[in-house]
Amino acid sequence: YFSHPLAVAGILTGWHLDAQALIAALLHDVTEDTEITIAEIGEKFGKVTAELVDGVSKLDKIEFQSIEDAQAENFRKMLLAMARDVRVILIKLADRLHNMRTMEAMTPAKRARIAGETLEIYAPIAHRLGLNQTYRELQELSFRHLRPWRHAALSKAVQKARGYRRDVVERIQRDVEKSFAQAKLPVQVYGREKTLFSIYKKMSEKHLSFAQVNDIFGFRIVVGTLMECYMAMGVLHQLFKPMPGRFKDYIAIPKGNGYQSLHTTLVSPLGTAVEFQIRTEQMHAVAEKGIAAHWMYKAKGAGANAQDAQRLGAMWLQSLLDIQDETRDASEFLEHVKIDLFPDSIYVFTPKSKILALPRGATPVDFAYAIHSDVGDHCVAAKVNGEPVALRTELHSGDVVEIVSAANARPNPAWLNFVRTGRARSKIRHYLKTMELDESRAMGEKMLAQALRAEGLQMPAADPNDAAAAALWQ
Ligand code: MN
Repeated sequence: YFSHPLAVAGILTGWHLDAQALIAALLHDVTEDTEITIAEIGEKFGKVTAELVDGVSKLDKIEFQSIEDAQAENFRKMLLAMARDVRVILIKLADRLHNMRTMEAMTPAKRARIAGETLEIYAPIAHRLGLNQTYRELQELSFRHLRPWRHAALSKAVQKARGYRRDVVERIQRDVEKSFAQAKLPVQVYGREKTLFSIYKKMSEKHLSFAQVNDIFGFRIVVGTLMECYMAMGVLHQLFKPMPGRFKDYIAIPKGNGYQSLHTTLVSPLGTAVEFQIRTEQMHAVAEKGIAAHWMYKAKGAGANAQDAQRLGAMWLQSLLDIQDETRDASEFLEHVKIDLFPDSIYVFTPKSKILALPRGATPVDFAYAIHSDVGDHCVAAKVNGEPVALRTELHSGDVVEIVSAANARPNPAWLNFVRTGRARSKIRHYLKTMELDESRAMGEKMLAQALRAEGLQMPAADPNDAAAAALWQ
């Protein structure tokens, strides 16, 4: 109850978070473990701190169930959307990091569950936020708790390999540097070593033995311009033979998170295969820090929205990484981190724990049409988190939404006044258009009568001989 919150706050001081976040970290389990309420925290420590504690507690209440990849991605987004303030996520990450470091006393089953969730959800979030060291530590700890024997064996194997491959690696580095000097291409050459988790991942994904994983040690070549990446690759391929099928151009086709680099594996004269990653300094920064803008907003379309997204993404990424390092000015940092992470989207659950993304302001009707047009066409009522609500109710991230439908129910034209998704709108319109003429007429009259009644007016009697009135019905 005491040392855990203190350790969490300690991790956050390492990330240079502000006082409010540190207070919230110290108090993050208080509403769970004691009778103290959010309101009381607000009175004693201020509204913002209370909101942060509330945000962390809310995240704790959502449980991740599915292990499907697509669902994991949505779950991560849901957490971010719910957090609203990025500090909530950072507190949660520090909380999880400390839990992962101190799991020894738990049962193996519980350890495995938490480690699995960390691997699927929290490590990737840390990655996207640019907390790369945390990302790697979460992965390594998860691996150790999920596969303790594998982890131990691999750790031993890497230590051995490090010893006998050192000479080879050093010699390759000298040869490579000499080639670039001769080609008059200014580059920086860095040696790198894979983490145990990534070695393990590669072995299991590609069904390889440890001896077959030949890129435990590799090199990173950082050049000045994009074109120089390809020139550097030419220099390398002249020096050593590239391994067929191992060349990847992530510059022309970046990875989903914006990662760009050329990857190639070369076979040195000694027979050792070594992987090279070639990138510019800018690509390197993105690779280390993650690019929020690419990831947060799927829409790559042109227009103000995409530009805004880029700007927002760039801004908070900046705030998170650079401002902390350079100015360490808490108030300036704060201004940037208050940005709503997902200004346009909410994430809600179906009763079967599937997650749907909807635009902000979406209603149960949008939800119904997002599931299936039949569900939308026949929906009559909705429940949110088990409580009956009006169909026009605005949904929020984390809501569990349930639609009640009836076979004889029909779309209501009034829904057009509040639906937010184009899909719902067009489906409702489509239904209204294809309705039988008589039915449309009756509905039109009904709507008109309703509207008139609302204004305290009477419905005029229909006159079949009135050409102007008849034209209105066409
Ligand atoms: Mn905790």
